Amino acid sequence: MTDGLVFDVKRYAIHDGPGIRTTVFFKGCPLSCPWCHNPEGRLFDRELMVWPDRCIECQICASVCPNSSISVLDNSIVTERDKCEVCGVCAEKCPASAREIVGKRFSVDELMQEVEKDRPFYDKNGGITVSGGEPLSQPVFLHALLRKCKRKGIHTTVDTSGYADRRILIKISKNVDLFLYDLKVMDSKKHELYTGVSNRRIFENLELLHTLGKNIIIRFPLIPHVNSSKANISAMCEFISRLRNIEEIDVLPYHGLGVEKARRLGKEAKIFAKPTAEMLGQSLRSIRSFGFIVKTGG
Ligand code: SF4
Ligand code: SF4
Repeated sequence: MTDGLVFDVKRYAIHDGPGIRTTVFFKGCPLSCPWCHNPEGRLFDRELMVWPDRCIECQICASVCPNSSISVLDNSIVTERDKCEVCGVCAEKCPASAREIVGKRFSVDELMQEVEKDRPFYDKNGGITVSGGEPLSQPVFLHALLRKCKRKGIHTTVDTSGYADRRILIKISKNVDLFLYDLKVMDSKKHELYTGVSNRRIFENLELLHTLGKNIIIRFPLIPHVNSSKANISAMCEFISRLRNIEEIDVLPYHGLGVEKARRLGKEAKIFAKPTAEMLGQSLRSIRSFGFIVKTGG
């Protein structure tokens, strides 16, 4: 049976497409954007998340860990992550919910059961949004899930970086009502420097979806000194202007919430400045001047 790795199911989501939605977050992404607000979605594997501020120092975790990965140092709990095998025993036993395993395998039917619970709230235009991580990186699972949703008459949205094999995109797109498509940095070298991949395939895939006549909303994460320049925003708008069925750009100002999440995973995240109100206003005006509908936050 087809199954996939999911790190969250968010109910009553109102910023991930039209209406009230269930957003399913697939785990694993081929990009490595340092501003990512979902760092727990990057790795294609389960991970241990730790909240030191919730810890009551009962030391139960240290006593149950089968790999002796947890020790007490100066009255603090220390986890040696290179020894951790993400078995989840410490998370099960922790009485303070200070430890959690992120990432759970779902079959399509199990996930559909979760989605069906929210169906009464969808009304006319709500539905499911598959986000991540990068949903197109689990194509078999994604295809099976979307096909099932469409058979049940549920509106489907896919939130993607666009970094995927074009054959996968063509197959998946048949069961997608709306794409939320990220454009991050227009300069190819800079894009590769920040995300680890070239943006060429992302542009080609956006053109492909346009040719296929799909509904697309662009998502633009606004990060000062990364992609906030007038030149970058103009280049993005000029590119999108050539794709005539795209009318809306959603601007997502960097908020830095991923930094703390990354720490809970035992990783360091780069901290960027948050856009000022003036910068945000200028960016919105600049995008509007190209005739697009612009929303902040999706
Ligand atoms: S997840 Fe398992 S191996 Fe890792 S620290 Fe917890 S108990 Fe130890
Ligand atoms: S079991 Fe939980 S509360 Fe107790 S020491 Fe470990 S992390 Fe802290």
